Amino acid sequence: CGRKFVTWTKINLLLVLTVLGVFLGILIGFLARFAEYGKDAIMLVSFPGDILMRMLKMLILPLIISSMIAGLAQLDAKSSGRMGSRALGYYFVTTMLAAILGIILVTAIHPGDPSIKEGVDLESENKNVYTLDAFLDLIRNMFPENLLQACFQQVETTYVKDKVKPNYVPPGVNFTNLTDFENVTQYKEKRELIYKDGTNVLGLIIFCIVFGVTCGQLGEEGEVMVHFFVTLNDIIMRIVVLVMWYSPLGIMSLIIGKIMSITDLARTAQQLGLYMLTVIIGLVIHAGLTLPLIFFVITRKNPLTFLKGMLQAWITALGTASSAATLPITFRCLEENNHIDKRVTRFVLPVGATVNMDGTALYEAVAAIFIAQMNGINLSAGQVIAVSLTATAASVGAASVPSAGLVTMLLVLSAVGLPTKDITMIVAVDWLLDRLRTSINVLGDAFGAGIVHHLSKAELDKIDAEHARIEMEMP
Ligand code: ASP
Repeated sequence: CGRKFVTWTKINLLLVLTVLGVFLGILIGFLARFAEYGKDAIMLVSFPGDILMRMLKMLILPLIISSMIAGLAQLDAKSSGRMGSRALGYYFVTTMLAAILGIILVTAIHPGDPSIKEGVDLESENKNVYTLDAFLDLIRNMFPENLLQACFQQVETTYVKDKVKPNYVPPGVNFTNLTDFENVTQYKEKRELIYKDGTNVLGLIIFCIVFGVTCGQLGEEGEVMVHFFVTLNDIIMRIVVLVMWYSPLGIMSLIIGKIMSITDLARTAQQLGLYMLTVIIGLVIHAGLTLPLIFFVITRKNPLTFLKGMLQAWITALGTASSAATLPITFRCLEENNHIDKRVTRFVLPVGATVNMDGTALYEAVAAIFIAQMNGINLSAGQVIAVSLTATAASVGAASVPSAGLVTMLLVLSAVGLPTKDITMIVAVDWLLDRLRTSINVLGDAFGAGIVHHLSKAELDKIDAEHARIEMEMP
């Protein structure tokens, strides 16, 4: 028995270290709270974690580009089309289910009480987001004007429906030429930049899909390109392994730093405890029941074994609060532990990590109705439906970075006419809810890849058989 344990630990050493990192992080973090410390101490303990985040983020761009192009170029257009629609179907259904579950729970538990609002300082101004433009922004981002620029920054703008002040000058405009002057005079609405972070992943993904499929269609001529991206992908995945061995230390540091930097833990827990509990119950049901059930019904495979294989990615998501930063580890877990075909993960995962966020949709639905309850507002059936739809759309629009869900919340609140400044209230607990919902987002992507793999097996086998036949025929 002892020897069995040693062998098990050896095989799962990385996982054991990561779990240890989480426990030590929580322990040290709470113990440290008894001591007196300043900003410098927090900065220093969080430093190894910072480095982990930077390393993971560094890998995202080459990983997404190489995996999407390599994956799609190795499939024929028909198979990738089918695979893509299966994935999108799964994403839509599960995200909607998550939002609906959130609505049911928040209505049943009713965590929002108008008295909570008393004594809370709401400093931010009420932003009235122009919903149509915000939705159009989501689509605009899919078609970046400049590919290089898309690699550097994503600009998510939200329109604020304000009367334009008479001499209002939109940001970035200077009067050096006549066109700019005309732009200003034609400016009807004040466009305000609310959020700006990271890479325009969605825009890059759309380009990579088109590029990869076209590359595959070229046949022999495109082979050099395909080889290039397949090799690039293999190299990046090897680097991922190196980063994974560093991750236990990084995750521990992230957790200690976070726990040390929370102010007024007891008060927020008291005020927002029931709200947090509602979100957490929802996330647990979605990840522990809904997703495994769907997975089992479709694939007839054991969802628990699948979940066990994803543990490393799940913990990384808890530590980093970013689906994009977790992406390299999600790839590794799916391919190595759960034996999902690379052609599936390469294509489906980057898309999933960017648009499929079940945890975020559930969270946004709960938060919106919680805010309504705190204001003593009873939402009509139509408004509740609007919440479920906009929460789904807002989760698609949220970037895969920490706290992105909070920004797209504006959309949900504005769509049903709730006060957007009340977001300030729930920001206090976002450090925890963000990582929890992110970990569910990652599990949703993983189950999705498992299901698409199962449904596409016949096609993949056919492509393999065809390749084998061509190889046999070669002199
Ligand atoms: N942090 C989440 C993610 O990366 C997005 C969110 O804020 O909901 O998946």
